[in-house]
Amino acid sequence: MPVSTIPIKAFIQAAEAAIHEHAEEVTELDQAIGDGDHVINLRRGLMALAGSANELESADWSATLQKIGMSLMSSVGGASGSLYATLFLAMSKAFKDREMNQRNLAEAFGQGVEAVKQRGKAELGEKTLLDVLIPVADTLQTAAAQSRPLPQLLDDIRRVAEAGCESTRELLATKGRASFLGERARGHIDPGARTSQLMIAAITGVLDETAS
Ligand code: ADP
Ligand code: MG
Repeated sequence: MPVSTIPIKAFIQAAEAAIHEHAEEVTELDQAIGDGDHVINLRRGLMALAGSANELESADWSATLQKIGMSLMSSVGGASGSLYATLFLAMSKAFKDREMNQRNLAEAFGQGVEAVKQRGKAELGEKTLLDVLIPVADTLQTAAAQSRPLPQLLDDIRRVAEAGCESTRELLATKGRASFLGERARGHIDPGARTSQLMIAAITGVLDETAS
């Protein structure tokens, strides 16, 4: 699929709208187990991306993902900024000289998530955005091996992202600011897991229209 047919602008707008709609809820989560700035951090990144959306549609996916990663690196700040930048930069590397298809996307996303794990020194079950990203990466990889139809894949991705987000509620945090709270972090969903899930739901929602 050529990059020009992928609605990058629509992805950014949908992600921005989802974060905007849930801003209060996410801020409360980050006030409960972080420092309350997560929505502000993400919004800065999404605004920077929206501002350069036309330039993002370049000749190939590797270049586009690299631009997204660099833009996030310089705009977001906070732990989540360098982690999201790492995700996109590692995906850019994986897409070098590769076309966009389900298999390559699954592999690139998998490598991106692997890079986030290394960067954050975190694994599944540590109450972070990885509790959403890892199951989504696994779902993409399994689906690519089976060539699952796109509408079903999009539903599966949304479902595992929601389950992953919800799973953080009862976890203890062992990474990031929430780890300072010990038992007091229990009972609160991780803000980064929630925003990852919200953005994944928004992006798959845009793709629903192209899949139907
Ligand atoms: P900061 O914690 O620096 O204020 P943000 O508020 O923007 O940054 O992001 C917090 C989110 O980042 C957390 O909710 C968590 O999901 C994620 N996070 C923090 N540290 C790590 C880590 N080491 N690995 C993976 N994710 C992390
Ligand atoms: Mg914060």
